[in-house]
Amino acid sequence: MDLLIKHITTDIIDIPIKRPHQFSTEKITTKSFMIVRLHLTNDIEGIGEGTTPGIWWNGESVETMKLVVDQYIKPLLLGKDPRYVEQILALMDRHIRGNSFAKAAVEMSIYDALGHVFQVPVHQLLGGAFTKEVPIRWALASGSIEGDINEGIELYQNHTYQTFKIKSGKESPEKDVIRSIKIAEGLQGYSAIGVDPNGSWNRLMTKKWMEELNQAGVEFLEQPLAPEDIDGMSDLVSMKRVPIMADEGIASIHDARQIVEKKAADIFSLKIHKFGGMRHTLKVGALAESAGICCFGGTSLETSIGTAANLHAFCTLRNLDYGAEIFGPDWLKDDLVVEPLKSKKGTLTLPEKPGLGIELDETKFTQYKRHKEENSWNTTMRQP
Ligand SMILES: [Mg+2]
Repeated sequence: MDLLIKHITTDIIDIPIKRPHQFSTEKITTKSFMIVRLHLTNDIEGIGEGTTPGIWWNGESVETMKLVVDQYIKPLLLGKDPRYVEQILALMDRHIRGNSFAKAAVEMSIYDALGHVFQVPVHQLLGGAFTKEVPIRWALASGSIEGDINEGIELYQNHTYQTFKIKSGKESPEKDVIRSIKIAEGLQGYSAIGVDPNGSWNRLMTKKWMEELNQAGVEFLEQPLAPEDIDGMSDLVSMKRVPIMADEGIASIHDARQIVEKKAADIFSLKIHKFGGMRHTLKVGALAESAGICCFGGTSLETSIGTAANLHAFCTLRNLDYGAEIFGPDWLKDDLVVEPLKSKKGTLTLPEKPGLGIELDETKFTQYKRHKEENSWNTTMRQP
């Protein structure tokens, strides 16, 4: 069968979120996405989505993704056979350094298209689902201790979510760790929480508080130290108090090997965007499996498009022991697909229709599309 990539277009989409979300460096009220629409010579279309927590996270933004796809990836891929995914990934890596979020969005659109070509869900192109339901962890990020505790208890009691994570790193490390302990203590008897300071704590302070974090019932500590401080993460793992998760520090299979060798994590946070796609994510998952490291399905806060892609990849893993946090569709005010992927009783179910199993809602796509003359109506408020 003659099958080639015929055309690729990209658009930026801005969708409001339900409530402001506090990251370590900024508070956001809308979320932006770069949508890839890839057309094959048989007129089948694949959809891909690129999004980041923010440019502070890894240096990419939806604007850089659009430019990289339009100017550099598109000319490389036009006329290529989409069935040779590994060759396409290698071609992109050889010609374009980094920019893994942009590459992941393109790979997503290729897998969606291939799923429609072969009439199978994407997970079957990745080895087949090991599980079809994933427990979802909600991020408490109201900005206040009481707000986070109340939100956690309410969601737990009405069975919306059973497990939680808190964002940290907004204040000084010492204030932050005390705040984290108070929230963990406030939720004791309901649920254990993970704490994610996005690399903003330091070695000495973190070591000093490890026992208290353990006593408060903190389930894991996600990337407490700077991504490059592998030795520091290794020290924390060796304390055997709270399980240590690597997130920003593990952005490639090469990072993963280093972390395995130095015993610098108990858990890997996997994200299809940071690794440059689903195939690379599964390679990191395999490395974790070989080293007895647990996996957690991380998020870049996607719409149902990226969430579906995450599910297809995560569901093929044997070692997704900590579930996932792909709550983007529950967190956004609106979505881009006809039937959004909403969690039920804290669980997301793998879509089984061909491709990613989602259908783009063209009306919503047009409604939220950013027009050229607009910069962004994203009202990002920078924190000092
Ligand atoms: Mg994180």
